[in-house]
Amino acid sequence: MEWKETYEIFPIMVDDSTNLRTVNFYLVKTDQSLVLVDAGIHNEDFMNALHKTLYENGFSVEDIAEIILTHNHYDHVGLVNPITEKHPIPVFAHEEAIPRLKRDRAFMEMRVEFYMKLYKEMGCGEAGDKRVAFLRESIEKNRNQSIHADINPIGSSQLGFEVLHVPGHAPDQIALYNEANQEMIAGDLIIDHISSNALVEPDHSGERLPTLIQHKKSLEKIRNLNLKQIYPGHGVLIKEPKVLIDRRLGGIERKAEKFKNLIREGISTGNGLAKSYYKKIYAKQFSLVMSEIIGHLDYLEANEQIKKEMKNGVWHYSVKE
Ligand SMILES: [Zn+2]
Repeated sequence: MEWKETYEIFPIMVDDSTNLRTVNFYLVKTDQSLVLVDAGIHNEDFMNALHKTLYENGFSVEDIAEIILTHNHYDHVGLVNPITEKHPIPVFAHEEAIPRLKRDRAFMEMRVEFYMKLYKEMGCGEAGDKRVAFLRESIEKNRNQSIHADINPIGSSQLGFEVLHVPGHAPDQIALYNEANQEMIAGDLIIDHISSNALVEPDHSGERLPTLIQHKKSLEKIRNLNLKQIYPGHGVLIKEPKVLIDRRLGGIERKAEKFKNLIREGISTGNGLAKSYYKKIYAKQFSLVMSEIIGHLDYLEANEQIKKEMKNGVWHYSVKE
């Protein structure tokens, strides 16, 4: 099969007050179809932005033939319900996204148990308990945010793009790659102005995914492709992908080295590392900070740089000399 070159991508970038700067989603027009890739946040600003971009290009919502989701996060799926309720069209995502998008009760409860055990073993104490209580409340509170439409597992190609599984930031993250045009829509795999977080997550059986290792492998996978441009989930379009990918890969190594040095100085628990490295951000962004720490600990352990030992239910890390 020959990859189609004749398509046009219309970016929709909505300003965001956080350090993400913008939340992006994309309309892709091919010879035969109009497809929405990601669906922003569920509010009026995003709906207006979508309508504006459709209108400027001579379309309306009824012309959208399908929706593809790069991953399950709320800022990528917000308009799926309002669009599909009025206009039922197929929704495609990676298989791993389905229990998360459907907010499957058993899965969500398993996920809370997963974090409870994880934060205990990392020595997080009260901060961990607080986060777990919040997650538990969120199951009930966010129940109505589940995606109502059926979600179809995405295949290996869609719209003439190759579908690549690029987990790490999310277990279900995919990228759409067009070899002929050397471009890619890549969700939150890589962002120009900040390094994308590899968020700690369980797999469907409750085992911890090595998310930072996955993220690194995903970056290495796309580094080997011919790429001129990446359309990211946040911030500006990426014009020199290889340079940025190398910078991000280098960043992972540098951070791992910093954590290893702290462990060598005698800080042995995940929580101790998080507090000592992140200081004020620790309390403000507890779950992000713990993802960074745990991801790098898993990475250092996989590379046989450090080892761990359980004492009183808490993992203690030490440098392998
Ligand atoms: Zn995301």
